[in-house]
Amino acid sequence: MSVELYAFTCGHLTIPHGFLLEGREGWITVPIPAYLIVHPKGRAVFDSGLHIQAQTDPVGYMGEACLKYATFHFHPGEELAARLAAMQVDAASVDYVINSHWHYDHAGGNAQVPNADVVVQGREVSHAFAAGAAAGYLKQDFDTGQRLRQVDGEHDPFGDGSVVCLPTYGHTPGHQSLRVRTADGEFILCGDACYLKESLDNLHAPGVIADKAAAVSVFHRFRQMQARGARIMYGHDPAFWKTIPQAPVRLG
Ligand SMILES: [Zn+2]
Repeated sequence: MSVELYAFTCGHLTIPHGFLLEGREGWITVPIPAYLIVHPKGRAVFDSGLHIQAQTDPVGYMGEACLKYATFHFHPGEELAARLAAMQVDAASVDYVINSHWHYDHAGGNAQVPNADVVVQGREVSHAFAAGAAAGYLKQDFDTGQRLRQVDGEHDPFGDGSVVCLPTYGHTPGHQSLRVRTADGEFILCGDACYLKESLDNLHAPGVIADKAAAVSVFHRFRQMQARGARIMYGHDPAFWKTIPQAPVRLG
């Protein structure tokens, strides 16, 4: 049995367009993707979407100040556990939640896979605790008591090269992407290292970023992978995600 990859969105978010593309005016509504990877040795999710409290009580979840820059479109049935249930996957059976980083729209569903070890870059952990809510880090998302596997650089949780964390620092100091090799080819799950197809095509940097030079050098790495045939899974591209088959249909 080879590795299987499933993609699904866990709600949408309206945010300033300039966050994604430097200099852009107005607002954009973007999907919040997550993935399930089924490996012969276990199951992993990559990113976990929003916290379930965001469905009913966004102010209590995030506070008024942060909500100036984010409107949630997140309804019952769109949360990680419900998406997994729709695939006949018990959320309690997931072995790993691999987080690209700990921003609220990527780590909010961690607690919904209660038995999963959290795989994250160590430098993201220290940054998240220090940076706090004003920087998009909400403690209730990632301070869950789940077992933490803090990694440094590339990491291969299943030990056979099919699922590998790739350090892609820049969006945040400890951001990582995920390379998944399936029978249908190689996929790069960008997380927030590349929001939009337009970002990569035009090397257009985001407006809000920890390290712009590092982020642009990640774009160049993604282009090299793309030239070798890898499929780049853009992190928040509304047009791109309309073309992506949603679970339970298999992506790769
Ligand atoms: Zn982010």
